[in-house]
Amino acid sequence: MRKLVIGLEIHIQLNTKNKLFCQCPVAFGDTINTNTCPICLGYPGALPHMNQEAVRMGIELGLALKGNIQQHSYFERKNYFYPDLPKGYQITQHSAPLVKNGFLRIQHKKIRIEQIHLEEDTAKLTHEGNFVNLEVDFNRSGIPLLEVVTKPDIESPDEAVRFLTNLKKIVEYLGVSSGKMEEGALRCDVNISLSSTGKHPHYRIEVKNLNSFRSVYKSILFELARQEEFLNQHQKPISETRGFDDKTEETFLLRKKASAYDYRYFPEPDLLAIHISPEEIESIRNQLPELPAQARKRLMEKYGLSIIKANSISASRTLCSFFEQTNALYPDPKKIVNWLLTDFFKNLNKYNLTLLTQKMKPIHFASLLRILDSGSVSANHGKQILEIMMKEGLEPEQIIHSLHLTQENNPDVLDKWIDMALAKYPKEIRVYQSGKNNIIDMFVGEVLEISLGRANPVLVKSRLETRLMKKSTDKGR
Ligand code: ZN
Ligand code: MN
Repeated sequence: MRKLVIGLEIHIQLNTKNKLFCQCPVAFGDTINTNTCPICLGYPGALPHMNQEAVRMGIELGLALKGNIQQHSYFERKNYFYPDLPKGYQITQHSAPLVKNGFLRIQHKKIRIEQIHLEEDTAKLTHEGNFVNLEVDFNRSGIPLLEVVTKPDIESPDEAVRFLTNLKKIVEYLGVSSGKMEEGALRCDVNISLSSTGKHPHYRIEVKNLNSFRSVYKSILFELARQEEFLNQHQKPISETRGFDDKTEETFLLRKKASAYDYRYFPEPDLLAIHISPEEIESIRNQLPELPAQARKRLMEKYGLSIIKANSISASRTLCSFFEQTNALYPDPKKIVNWLLTDFFKNLNKYNLTLLTQKMKPIHFASLLRILDSGSVSANHGKQILEIMMKEGLEPEQIIHSLHLTQENNPDVLDKWIDMALAKYPKEIRVYQSGKNNIIDMFVGEVLEISLGRANPVLVKSRLETRLMKKSTDKGR
């Protein structure tokens, strides 16, 4: 029996105000090469200086992952050549990282963490094929990264994705990164080997720079099949670094593995070591925000949500606080959650919105729910109003007014519409009276159509029943 042995290295882009070693802003989507200076462009002789905010974020993530914050850590130079790194080395932590050990739970299993360290991001390269039409964007150069390195405790593609999902939630709750894989804020390298039971694998394949949960999953499946093939033929796979092609869903050779020696690590002479006192660590620990697991527990205890619903709502801090703000104004948690997990999510997908780009405010959502309770607007119109609120951010009253969506409850008005419907179908009235009572839904539908959807269907149905009964007694007389 062979077993998958997987370890992850995850680079998390921090959303500090400034870059790690200079004053340039950390911003995304700006014109290329506008947020640069001699330090992040790698000019010889430019001196880096440490960004305290990045260190603090590293400590926060370390504490959230139950790691040991090191009172003494320092930076080193990792020497290599690549067009995204003009100074010829990356400033990173190697021998003395900021955080050692820790773990992250995925369901009932603990995935141990080896270390978390700080390092600078490189410039961003865009090119076709073999560096044709190469574009280098130094806006990314020097953005702080936290690299989380796990122990090889992961045993399946599912576990890898679960680990990443939980880690992404934690960084979002801490507010240290957007965690958006599609934007490169969270990038994952996967180390994959196969071991025969009880034995340690003697090789390691690293698949680099995966930027979606799906490619992490697919690359592991591909490597499992590829490495099995080797082992079945009694060959040992060669340790190497590979890339992943999203289209073919295959990994491909990038380079043979460089040993640590090749990078010629040595302490960065231009930066002081980082010293953190136990008091500083304690004070950061005391100010840690609520984390996803705590939020989920609270949602279950305080609002009586099921574990599945609490899990969905606590998946994002933004969603959790949207829920709680709405609940403060409309204290029926279950109803709110039902709307959020069905129509609200449906609209996010339908209109390609996110929790941050949709425009409905909790106060307006709460008034929509109250309006629906009052019966002045139909449930179907409620869904339509929700859509408009999420897209355009109007108040529900405005939408109801401008689209004439008020539900009609006035018996006189309803009777007028009912008359019109009954007049259209004399034959069907007799069918109803002959005992086929389910035909009443046809009449209700007709009234709704005549009223352009404004008639209150519950009232219409009960009035129709009385009317049709009356008609049959009339006839009997
Ligand atoms: Zn700079
Ligand atoms: Mn790294």
